Amino acid sequence: MATINLTFDEMWEKIIACDQKYDGLFFTAVKTTGIYCRPSCKSRKPKKINVDFYIDRQEVETAGFRACKRCQPEVEFSPNVALVRSVVTYLVNHFKQPITLQDVADSVGLSPYYLERTFKQETGETPRSYLEKIRVDKATHLLVTTDQTNLEVCYEVGFQSPSNFYRVFKRLKGCSPSEYRKLGGSNHELD
Ligand SMILES: [Zn+2]
Repeated sequence: MATINLTFDEMWEKIIACDQKYDGLFFTAVKTTGIYCRPSCKSRKPKKINVDFYIDRQEVETAGFRACKRCQPEVEFSPNVALVRSVVTYLVNHFKQPITLQDVADSVGLSPYYLERTFKQETGETPRSYLEKIRVDKATHLLVTTDQTNLEVCYEVGFQSPSNFYRVFKRLKGCSPSEYRKLGGSNHELD
């Protein structure tokens, strides 16, 4: 069975943020309506207690949920969507390790050149910049839900140096990790 290295609370954060980066990696099934959605669905958010997450679309359908008309989670919008999903799954599941473009290319059986070009066409990002966003998402989660120090968080989410961690974090979040923690993440829920 497919697995993804995201906790229930992390998946919940993604759907509250309508985070498109994680589309296709998991599905939100709403027990009260019998509907399932992509993480980025803009429909009104269900209550947390009414939500189940599924990694596999077959599984969520077998469980009796119907696809949301609005976000159409059952539709693949292009032939490269499956490739992007494989790459993002690899990044989410290996973010703690140093990852090279060659590692990512090997994981999907393509040349690094072709992989990077296709991935960029589909997402507007390189695998590296996407990985940075995933790492920073992990960091924001740890900063507001744990007592780990900035330095611990830095290494926990796969950055190799604190200076790089601070630089990337600030670029993506507009504040330092310490500031982010102080604000409890409240300045970021709507971005
Ligand atoms: Zn939906």
